[in-house]
This record gives sequence, C-alpha cells and structure tokens, in this order.
Amino acid sequence: MSAENTKTESAPQYSGDDGRSQGGGKICKAVHQYSKGKISSENMDVLMEIGHGCMVTRNYIYQKYGNIKSLVKVYSGYEVDAEVRAARFREEIGLPSVYFSASVSRALADIKIMWAQVRNGINDALSRNERFSSKDRHYIRFVLKTDICYWNILNKKSMPLPEKIQPKYEKLIAELGDESGQRVKNLNRYICRQTRKRLRRQHTDNELYFTIKKQGYRYGESDGRHGIFLATKVNRQRIFIPLTDTNTYDRMLDIKLDPQNKAIEIIIPLFVNIRQHEDYTNEIGISLGLWNMITTSAGNVYGSEFGKMQNEISNYILKEMRQNERAKVCDTKKYAANKAKMDAALKNYINMEINRMLESEKPKAVYMAKLPRNPGMSMKGTGNTYFLRMWRKGFVTERIQWKCQNNAVQITEVIGKGIGTECSACGQKGHVEGERFQCPACGFEEDKKVNSARNALIRGKTGKQLNKQFPQNEGGKAIKEMSEQ
Ligand SMILES: [Zn+2]
Repeated sequence: MSAENTKTESAPQYSGDDGRSQGGGKICKAVHQYSKGKISSENMDVLMEIGHGCMVTRNYIYQKYGNIKSLVKVYSGYEVDAEVRAARFREEIGLPSVYFSASVSRALADIKIMWAQVRNGINDALSRNERFSSKDRHYIRFVLKTDICYWNILNKKSMPLPEKIQPKYEKLIAELGDESGQRVKNLNRYICRQTRKRLRRQHTDNELYFTIKKQGYRYGESDGRHGIFLATKVNRQRIFIPLTDTNTYDRMLDIKLDPQNKAIEIIIPLFVNIRQHEDYTNEIGISLGLWNMITTSAGNVYGSEFGKMQNEISNYILKEMRQNERAKVCDTKKYAANKAKMDAALKNYINMEINRMLESEKPKAVYMAKLPRNPGMSMKGTGNTYFLRMWRKGFVTERIQWKCQNNAVQITEVIGKGIGTECSACGQKGHVEGERFQCPACGFEEDKKVNSARNALIRGKTGKQLNKQFPQNEGGKAIKEMSEQ
C-alpha cells in the first residue's frame, strides 16, 4: 500500500496531545500494517483477552475521570498515573502495563477531546447569543480556557488561582461593573448549564481495538517470516504475528482485531511535517461535483475523469449483483479483489488530482461550501449508486482538507445554503438550467459549478454570511454548529 492510499485519522491522537493545541507544524497521519495468513485460534484468544482488558481499563478511566471533578486532574497525567497505580486496578485485571498504561493514556486523551469539544461548543454558542456584551464574552472565554477557574465554577469551590492569573481574573470581573456580584453569578450559571448540556459519559463496547506501548512489541523474524512479537498476559511470553510488509516502527501502535477472519490490522500514527510554500499566495473558491471532481472559481477543472471512474465501479457492482442473482453463486473473492482494485485506482486518482490542483493553483486559502450534514436526507429514490457517490464525495472532502493542512493551505468551509442559485456577479437569485447558471437581474451567465465556486470565494473572503451570524468568526469552526441552532 502506497503512502498516498493511507487513510488519515482525524480523531483521537494518543500522543498526549490534549486536542486543544495544533502542534508545532506537524499533523498526524496513520499508516497501516496487516497480518499475513490466518492467526491461530490460540493466539487470537490471547489477543481477544488483551482487547477485553483494554476495554475494561478505558471504561474505568472514563468513569473515574470523565467528570467535572477531574477537569484539572486529567491534564496532569502524572497525578492520574499515581492514583491509578495506588488503586491497583491493573493487578486486579492482570493486564501487562504496556497495554494498561497505553489504554489509560488513550482514555485520558478521549476525555481531553471531550473537554475541548465542550469548550468549543460553549464558545460557539456564546458567539451566537446576542444577549451577551463583549465584556461578558471576555469573562466566559477567560474562564473556559483557564482550567482552574473553570473547575472552581463547575464544582462551586474556590481553589486559589495561580499568581499570574488572579489579577487578570479580578480585572475581568471589575470590568463587568458588577458590584452586587449578580452578573458573575449569572454568567457562572450559564457556564455550568452549558457544560452540563454538553458533557457526556464516555463508554466503549469495543474490545477489538487497543493500544500497545513500544516496550510491548518487537519486529523480527520467526521461521523465515517477518512479523511482530507482541507481549501477552503471561510474563515474558510473546506471540508472533507474521505481517505482509517488512516495515518497522518504534512508537505506540493501535491494534485492531478481526476475529472472523483471524487477522489483525496495525495502525501507526505518524507525525509528519507540514510543508510550507512561500509561493502559495492565491485565494480560490472551489465547488465539488459528481462528474468533475473540483471546479475552481477561475473555471479550472481537476478530476474530470472522476464521474466516469465512479460510473465504471457502479456498473461493475450492478453487473455482479445481477449475475449473482441469476447464478445463485457468488464468487466473492474475485469480486472483492476487483472492486478493491478499482477503488484503489479511484482513490489514487483523487489524490493525484488534488495534488495537481494545489501545485497549479498555488492557493494560500481555499473556500468551499459545507457539505450537507446528512446527505441521505436529500436522496429521492435515486438508487444505490447515489449513496456510493455521496460517500466518495465525503472522501474527496476529507482528502482536500488533509492535503491543505499538509501544505499549510488554509481551508475554510462556508455556508452552502443557496450557493448554487445565487448570482456570483450581483448577488441576486438566479436559476440553473442544465449545466448553466443564469441571472435574470444582471444577465450574468456561467457554468453552474464555476458560479458556485465563485460564490464560495466571495462568501469566504468577505465573510458576508458568516459575519452576520458570527461577529467573532473563527474560521470554519463556528459554522459547523450552525444547523443545530
Ligand atoms: Zn446577477
């Protein structure tokens, strides 16, 4: 599998990153390894038992530290470690520490991600709520980003603030002009209410996915095969799993069990440097399509074979389905192999064309309409292939976002509502006929995708629609919550 084909993991990074910082010019990319041949039942059982232990450990941490009482504690891994060790929970479930402490860090990372989501959610709600003054907003934002302040308010306690923070906090309260203290009380109540609304109890039933620390494995050879030796619950006893490639890594690995197929997948989070391009200075709008993958605001097309390739895959699937119905036999292996090959070719093509777009357009900022939250909703009896295409559209968006991040290109989603029917020349409502957009108000005429891309650029650049709703617009973040309001 080439590096281009590896999937990105947008969600949890188990590096101890709290999900709030963007990291120093690095992003996380996942590489995959696969077991070769069938894993023996004995070895599979050993792995399943480890997976179960890791699940139990994660739930233990979620339950113990996923609450408002532990808000400050989860950011100090040391304190949690000491507590967990003292509780002797690991000994109780008999899990080697290379798995146990990896599960603990992973669960803590999940909790931190949840806290980041809670804080972001409140920040967004704050931007939308017009009854707050800018001083109120300052106060709440300060509390949200100051763990100890936030903790005090949530837990109705008054732990002393660090020396550097105390005067700032007092100044913010003074600025509220709040002699009776009523305003602060109300704002604190708002913070508590909004937090309660967003805080969720985390829990996992997934015992097929766990993490191992680098001390718990070793790559090597056994009987002339290359593979990985994994620690087991039995001291000093390791099991050997042959792998399909000979790459080796030296970091925390995620392991995904597939007991049905007696196989495992290893997921390796790699941190790669963001590429900086001095000569990327343009701002462009783009519009995604099911036929032409990307159309830019200047009218350039990337991925003109996109629709054709998708059609070939859909036709192949339909043909196989019909044949199988008739023959009542299903050559699933050959079918799966062929489909995988076509999918890989399509993904490769998508990646290549996005690269070509970035190299030719040299953008510093890309604006695109936000995809509908639930594409299935807009489906009106258009058949299976429509679903398939929408799914691929999601893949395209994900790849664009990933590649933009990877090249230090700012990518912003703008509100998509009405983007196809608005005239990009005068802003009036026009209409679409076939592939053409026409504006009766000013006479502007253009390819409908180019018109949409031009609107994306206008919306992004002027923040016309965003600023109305979000005076303190923070890029794409604020928009995401829009439809929930
Ligand atoms: Zn017009």
